[in-house]
Parts: sequence; structure tokens; C-alpha cells
Amino acid sequence: MPDTADILRLESLQVHFPIRGGFFDRVLGRPAGAVRAVDGIDLNVGQGEIVALVGESGSGKTTVGRVITKLAQPTGGRLLFEGRDMTSERGSSTLRPYRRRVQMIFQDAYQALNPRHTVFDIVAEPLRSLRLVENHSQLTERVSEALAAAGLNPSGDFFLRFPHELSGGQRQRVVIAGALAVKPELIVADEPVSMLDVSIRAQILQVLVDLRDKHHMALLFITHDLPLAWLIADRIAVLYLGRLVEIGTADQITFNPRHPYTVALRNATPQIRGDADRSKLPALQGEVPSAARVPKGCRFHPRCPLAFDRCKEEEPPALEVGPQHMSACWLTK
Ligand code: SF4
Repeated sequence: MPDTADILRLESLQVHFPIRGGFFDRVLGRPAGAVRAVDGIDLNVGQGEIVALVGESGSGKTTVGRVITKLAQPTGGRLLFEGRDMTSERGSSTLRPYRRRVQMIFQDAYQALNPRHTVFDIVAEPLRSLRLVENHSQLTERVSEALAAAGLNPSGDFFLRFPHELSGGQRQRVVIAGALAVKPELIVADEPVSMLDVSIRAQILQVLVDLRDKHHMALLFITHDLPLAWLIADRIAVLYLGRLVEIGTADQITFNPRHPYTVALRNATPQIRGDADRSKLPALQGEVPSAARVPKGCRFHPRCPLAFDRCKEEEPPALEVGPQHMSACWLTK
């Protein structure tokens, strides 16, 4: 189970991408607006905790992961790692240790792996670039350990293989091994199983849960799949158009969702154990609006079957609806 101490904290995090205006905008000096990919989110991850960040595509979840791993720079708010403000850190002397401690696993293992490198070189690369080993025998030991922890056994059999010689599940395990080799304390996993067969998904999820249990690693698991989030996570945060609309324990979000968007997401997924009467739940309507045109008021109101006048004018804050359970909806007061 997770400790209470936070390893990661996001405070009012914002990532806005400016839109390049047309000719007249530039001549008249008119602002062309911005894509508000992440628009003020507060989130914490405890040591050894698994938090799932759930949302449809376009919700901003991948951008959050990229900010945490310092692949994108926020335009507002703060990123704290073990209490230290990392928001504006750019120097290699600070980022090198940070990158060892915070690793990212990408969705598409084939894209993430260099097809010309052997499995050994792929897993060894972060150890070499972060200068974490002193000689070749240490390197071999660390690569071997990481492959075994990712479920590639016997590890030596994979050293000289190339990515095209592996199955989809084995490729994703190599990606995980590359992240594990540096012994991180937090892994951000962005849709790590969405491109795998259902039978392989369970095995990869088990590898991630084992890592938490054995090495006390924290995990931010980014997914569009609510049942998958429930399977793996201690807590679930639901993201809609750059804002967190609900956060709670995995059971609260799955079996007692309070925000109409979470209810609709659950309604759109296959039956989950202990599901309530789904016929009473509102269905999800329309499409996610562009993050360049965030609606005034509650950003979910154009798709919400329960919207009323206030929803179109005022954005609801996160309101407490139970222990550790928050929902940003005027109806959950
Ligand atoms: Fe729907 Fe209004 Fe609640 Fe937004 S605040 S989710 S529009 S009821």
C-alpha cells in the first residue's frame, strides 16, 4: 500500500500552446488565442502509489505526463518532486538525477525502440548516458536484472535480439526494462498496454503492479480505459478538456462516480463487477470540443444531459463528496 508522503505534486498546472494567427491577426496585433491542453490541475502521487489518469483523447493526459518527465514545459503552476520545485529546472546537473528517478513508458513500443539496436543496447542506453555504471560487468548485471524484472527470462536469451524479432508483448517488456534499468522512483506509463492483445495486457499490468509491490515504485498510469484503471490503480483522477473533474479511490470512481462525465465514461465501458443499473445513467453526447475553444462555465456542459443555466456561466470548483473523493460539478454539492 502507498505511503502517505507525496513523491509528486502538481499545483494549478497549466500548459497552453499559442495559436499562430492569420495575416490580419499579425498585422493588427490581435491575440490568436491558445490551445489550453492542461488548464489548472492539482494532483498528487504518494510514494509507492498507483494513480490512474483517465480521459478521452484530447483531454490533456499525455501532456501532463510529458510535463512530469520534463519533455514539455508548463506555462503556469508548479511541479514538485519530493517537495522540490522542478518547474523551471533545465540545467543538466539537476535534470540528470531527476531523469534517473522519473521515467516514462510510451504507448507504442515499436516507435520507442531503435530498430537497429539490440535489446542489450536499448536497455543499456540510459545506464550509459546517465553514467550509472562503471564497467561492462556492472552494465551486464543491470541490463540482466531489468530484463528479468520486466518478465523476459532467461534474460541472456534476449541480449542480441532486435525489436523486429520480438512479439508486441516482448517489445513492451523491453521498453519497461529500459525504464527500470535506472531504478526509478516514479514511472509515468502512457497507455502502456493499449496496443497489446488482451491476453498480454494482464501480464504487463502484473509486471507494473509487482514493481510497485517489490520496489515500492510509484506509478502514474495514463489511460482512456476506466476498467483498466480500476484493475491497477489505488486512486483514479478523471481529466476532461484539461481539467480534473473527479478524483477518488479506484472503487469510488468506478462504483460510485459522482461527476456526470465519469458516469458517462463508465456507461460507455463493458460491464464491471458490481455495476449499478446502467439504464439510469446519462449517455455521453457529442464530441470533445477542441482545447482551443474551451466553453465558458462548466467545460462539460455542451455534452452534459443534466446541464442547467448556472453550468453555462460558472465553472464549478472541486467539491468534496466523500473521504478522498472530489467532484467538480454543481450538482455534487
Ligand atoms: Fe453537468 Fe452542470 Fe455538473 Fe457540469 S456542472 S457536469 S454541466 S450538471
